Amino acid sequence: MHNFLTLVEKRQIASTTLECVFEKPDGFIFQAGQNMTLVLEKLNYADARGARRIFTIASAPFEEGLKISTRLTGSGFKRTLAELPKGAKVQFSGPRGKFHLLKELRKVIFVAGGIGITPIKSMITEVAHKSELPRAILFYSNATSDEAAYHDFFCRLADTAADFSYVPSLTSSSKVNMESWPGERGRIDFKMILRHVEFPHEYVFYLCGPPGMVDELVDILRENDIDKEHIFSESFWGYESVGN
Ligand SMILES: Cc1cc2nc3c(=O)[nH]c(=O)nc-3n(C[C@H](O)[C@H](O)[C@H](O)COP(=O)(O)OP(=O)(O)OC[C@H]3O[C@@H](n4cnc5c(N)ncnc54)[C@H](O)[C@@H]3O)c2cc1C
Repeated sequence: MHNFLTLVEKRQIASTTLECVFEKPDGFIFQAGQNMTLVLEKLNYADARGARRIFTIASAPFEEGLKISTRLTGSGFKRTLAELPKGAKVQFSGPRGKFHLLKELRKVIFVAGGIGITPIKSMITEVAHKSELPRAILFYSNATSDEAAYHDFFCRLADTAADFSYVPSLTSSSKVNMESWPGERGRIDFKMILRHVEFPHEYVFYLCGPPGMVDELVDILRENDIDKEHIFSESFWGYESVGN
């Protein structure tokens, strides 16, 4: 027997990012950071990879709906997803995945590249809601500011939660007036981390983004003597041609 989700809402939340909200099935339990597989019944456009994709649940477990957020790349799957009407049924399986927050962490550095923000958004929303936010710093890299999904949410949280700091960074200067950008510029590296965190070795790292970025960051952290037991990561394969 297949399980189905019902689409209740969809909206564009950044220049290339679509958020879909599904009704949460009764009894569906997941941990912040886990993912599920969606299967579209019928594709409106040809897609060499077929009708199935993995998406992280971007909403937090306490929230009412199940949200996913995705970059619209032009693939047949994504074009079909973007055209689904409210009330459409989508087959799913899950939740799955081991990328979730350990309990009772005191200091966490989150690093997200592009749509790799989804599990981190879920984790931070959940712990902030439970008033269990550890000392946390989010480094969030995007090519341009209009691509940074949930940017306003993290700005507001940084304004209201004393223990949360937000460091957005842009890697491209083509579409944005860099003089008015208050955040960092360039790829996230150890020098950037040190500009914002005095003792990074006291922190646990959660990394998510395209495989190239995640692999590079793990290498950088290891070269700088961050214990491998303090590094947790998830790679979103499937965006190889898009960058972050
Ligand atoms: C554990 C895990 C969690 C994930 N969570 C998320 C998530 O939360 N959100 C998310 O968005 N993704 C997530 N992914 C990745 C997701 O599963 C897809 O692989 C990814 O979204 C790319 O799918 P696609 O249909 O856009 O591209 P694919 O069809 O897989 O094609 C690969 C690339 O080719 C290009 N391409 C393909 N067709 C066209 C076309 N017609 N025109 C132009 N370019 C084209 C695109 O640039 C695309 O990125 C996750 C993956 C994993 C493994």
